[in-house]
Amino acid sequence: MKVTVIGFWGAYPGNGSATSSYLIEKDGFTCLIDCGSGALSRIQMYKDVMEIDAVILSHYHNDHVADIGVLQYSWLVQNSINNTEKILPIYGHLEDKIGFEKLTHNFTEAIAYDPESVLVVGPFSFTFMKTEHPVPCYAMRITDGDKAMVYTADSSYTDNFISFSQDADLLITDCNFYEGQDGRKAGHMNSREGAEIAKHAGVKQLILSHHPHFGNRQDLLIQARNYFNGPVQLADEGLIWGK
Ligand SMILES: [Zn+2]
Ligand SMILES: [Zn+2]
Repeated sequence: MKVTVIGFWGAYPGNGSATSSYLIEKDGFTCLIDCGSGALSRIQMYKDVMEIDAVILSHYHNDHVADIGVLQYSWLVQNSINNTEKILPIYGHLEDKIGFEKLTHNFTEAIAYDPESVLVVGPFSFTFMKTEHPVPCYAMRITDGDKAMVYTADSSYTDNFISFSQDADLLITDCNFYEGQDGRKAGHMNSREGAEIAKHAGVKQLILSHHPHFGNRQDLLIQARNYFNGPVQLADEGLIWGK
């Protein structure tokens, strides 16, 4: 399984970059996990838009779905240029009906995932965990039968992440605050909380993502390393994990 960070900002994209979006690939199959602001522009550094086989969304906040509309236009334009009728499946939860219905367009199809069941998409199996966030949001544990990665999506700290992330090869955490700051009201975690999950779950690699637009982001890394002895990285555009 190969993971490429496309966007790592929370709330809105920094200059020339994107908010939450990740590509995961295996055996030529490509999933886009969340599709934040700026994602469509940045994805094309790595993939043709028509090479995306499926999209899986954690929730419907704009920093995770802002580019769904232009992704739909890109499939409309490319299908008509190439005289094809390829349909892109976009998986989302059904707890926000308006958000869900927007996923269907000429060449994209909204498909509801059942958060209580395993979702199989291509070579990947997804299990979900409801997060602590102002709107319904789901973390994902994704496995290809060999490696396992966990994406917390947006959440404040909950112990549930420890069992959900147990022994994962990779953990990507919401890290929208610095150690000592309380992210609970906003529904986000700080650098220490992400590192504590990594430590207690025994994950092999931690990537801090969903970054704040204040402070020195290198401090997130320094703080996390005080609580987790394994490898930690700051998410960055084009950061690749696995192969
Ligand atoms: Zn977010
Ligand atoms: Zn959110």
